Amino acid sequence: MIRIVSRLFARAGPLYYRVTTPLEHAHLRICTRVYSMADNSAEAPALSKSAAKKLAAKQAKEAKKAETQARLKAEADARDADDYSKDRYGKLPTCNSHEKTDRKWTEVENLSKDMVDSEVLVRARVHLSRLTGKQCFVKLRHRYFSVQAVFVVDEKTSKQMLKFIGGCPKESIVDVVGTLVTADNPVESCSQKHIEIQGSTFNVVSEAVPQLPLQIDDASRPLAEDGPVVNQDTRLNNRILDLRTPANQAIFRIGHGVAALFREYLTSVGFTEIHTPKIISAASEGGANVFQVSYFKGNAYLAQSPQLYKQMAICADIEKVFTVGAVFRAEDSNTHRHLCEFVGLDIEMAFKEHYHEVLTVIGEMFLSMFKGLQTKYATEIDTVYKQYPQEAFKFIEPALRLEWPDAISMLREAGVDIGDFEDLSTPQEKFLGKLVKAKYDTDFYILDKFPLAIRPFYTMPCPHDPLYSNSYDIFMRGEEIMSGAQRIHDPAMLEERAKVHEIDLQTIRSYIDSFKFGASPHAGGGVGAERVLMLYLGLDNIRKSSMFPRDPKRLTP
Ligand code: ATP
Repeated sequence: MIRIVSRLFARAGPLYYRVTTPLEHAHLRICTRVYSMADNSAEAPALSKSAAKKLAAKQAKEAKKAETQARLKAEADARDADDYSKDRYGKLPTCNSHEKTDRKWTEVENLSKDMVDSEVLVRARVHLSRLTGKQCFVKLRHRYFSVQAVFVVDEKTSKQMLKFIGGCPKESIVDVVGTLVTADNPVESCSQKHIEIQGSTFNVVSEAVPQLPLQIDDASRPLAEDGPVVNQDTRLNNRILDLRTPANQAIFRIGHGVAALFREYLTSVGFTEIHTPKIISAASEGGANVFQVSYFKGNAYLAQSPQLYKQMAICADIEKVFTVGAVFRAEDSNTHRHLCEFVGLDIEMAFKEHYHEVLTVIGEMFLSMFKGLQTKYATEIDTVYKQYPQEAFKFIEPALRLEWPDAISMLREAGVDIGDFEDLSTPQEKFLGKLVKAKYDTDFYILDKFPLAIRPFYTMPCPHDPLYSNSYDIFMRGEEIMSGAQRIHDPAMLEERAKVHEIDLQTIRSYIDSFKFGASPHAGGGVGAERVLMLYLGLDNIRKSSMFPRDPKRLTP
């Protein structure tokens, strides 16, 4: 051991003047260590010759690495010293709200020609950055709007700055300052085609990792165009990125519109918004397809519909109510239009003499919603159609109302073999939608007077023909978006109908009892918000209109 130490020392030479490089420092560290081991040989195990050699090699390698790092840093420092732009770009410290300034950001969508020649500050994502020689073109994206920023090496923008911008990972959030100018040629790839930013500063607010699980351009591509296709599962597994596509940004903005316009219209005609429990003690729709959850020492269920509570509100004299909330269905339906959790837009209303008083309000509510979507969300609708081309949704005023026998006749005339009181299958519903569109030029209609036998026990029978009922479904592009009816408000009649349906009265006792203290005649219905959104836009799958869909095979993200 002493021999090894002496040899190493001998190679290191006189330490007081030779130890200058990291490599020599390493040697010294090894020598010191081995020396001290030699000194304390009683406590530390002696190093074998090969172990000491390995240790020396390892330390030398580390030293070399440190030397390289030091050299690179020195080079970078030297570069920085002559990087005249270094205050104009870089990564900002994590925003922790430490200051308030009077800087004003302009949203990409609000940049306009009348701002040309002025300085703008924009926060957006780097959709793409392309370095070509002494120029860097950055496509900045915010929601479904985009603008091009151009950086050119000049007296303000150094080569280093350009390199930094060119290397900024896609999807990073950046603050760009620059002068707004008129674009020499239309920038076809951006929503802002006629203006662009001559960039002067570029700061990263939040950097994205360089490898993305999907490319926004791929996820935004219309099916008809060539290029990689991102399948539904990849999209949903990476929903945060997928939601950034212009079409998705627009879809969920329109989804907001559906609920907002529903609320707006009903509020304007005197409805009260209520909130109904989602954890309930008994299954609302007869026990099937219900999610059971544990509830302290017992069990509870997730509400399949707010219907009973809406009706109780009517019994409590809150005569026009609506509610917007989650509805749970434990149906193993793996279809394009079923979810296990969806947003219910529910209405219930007392009427004076005929349930059509309610049906008229419902029809007008939908027409007002469609008109509101058309006028307030035109840009968003166009954005969706760019990726998912579709004919604009058509409707007529007043809303078309057909009765069940009319629909059966139309189907039969078109060659469909169907009984008078048989429920419509999904293909028959869609076919009927096509026939209605061809005849009446509308994608929206109400089908009234359903056969009593295919409706729930609480549905009021038709007074003119008890084989039919005072109940209706509403369709968009040939698919059901709402089911509703006049409900039986007479407890004795309700019991009688429940018996016909072979329902155990004990299980619905509290429901029946709600009507014992006097109840107004009333009607209502439930709409699936995701279905309305899907069908208004003509999308092919409800998973496109649910932000985080729940289906029998998907519980995340
Ligand atoms: P479907 O026949 O399409 O399964 P349903 O007759 O079960 O629908 P209702 O229970 O009457 O529908 O619900 C009223 C509305 O709620 C439907 O018209 C639809 O818009 C929506 N809805 C029902 N079930 C679902 C579901 N599983 N996923 C999404 N929306 C649904």
